[in-house]
Amino acid sequence: MNRRHFSKLSVLGIFAATLPLNATPTFMSLLPENELLGQGSPDLTKTTSYRLRPEAAVAYEKMRAAAAKDGITFKVVSSYRDYNHQNRIWERKYKRFRESGLSPIKSIEKIIEYSTIPGTSRHHWGTDIDIVDGGKNVSGDMLLPSKFHGNGPYCDFKEWMDKNANRFDFYLVYTDVLNRKGFKYEPWHYSYRPLSLGYLNDYKKLDIKTILQSNKLIGSEHFTADFIENYINDNVLDINPELLS
Ligand SMILES: [Zn+2]
Repeated sequence: MNRRHFSKLSVLGIFAATLPLNATPTFMSLLPENELLGQGSPDLTKTTSYRLRPEAAVAYEKMRAAAAKDGITFKVVSSYRDYNHQNRIWERKYKRFRESGLSPIKSIEKIIEYSTIPGTSRHHWGTDIDIVDGGKNVSGDMLLPSKFHGNGPYCDFKEWMDKNANRFDFYLVYTDVLNRKGFKYEPWHYSYRPLSLGYLNDYKKLDIKTILQSNKLIGSEHFTADFIENYINDNVLDINPELLS
């Protein structure tokens, strides 16, 4: 054995010896588990109008400036949301649907047309953002697909985004592709792909089934194993393929 070979092996040996036997390769994850679930304290930009991870915010600002040059004014409706925020949305909707007379299961099905179960929102990651056209006067709910189509007030915005968003690495998540399952079409929800692609990969490694079953949410006693499996396949994973790999 020559000297160089020997020292290389020694270095490897020392390195291996310092790893605990049961070490899981957590260093491969881009985000710690609590941040994937909306329960950490991520480093976010502190603008008044939105909260994103700094790298996503830089790209967003470039896109916003380019749109402004073309006469489109972005308005952020939602960006980072933590677990508690998502849980408030969940509880509000659950109570409203139950009071309207829907069964617990039907209420949950109705919520997950547009809203996620706390702990499963892409808004937890600081990479996703809901945007509309702030230059238009719109009454009522801004996040309705009809506002982006036909004679809707957000048609110019949509046309601009269709043409340009990908240039800035932002992609629609919940597209209007026929037969896509899970969340309904959301022409306002964009994701910053360079980060969220890796975060979704990390997320897929978590035991979501166990996590959801152990979180005590209002109505979560109705989450069966089948329900959770379908939810992961349809709502978490049936998204724009550009955001899967
Ligand atoms: Zn959204």
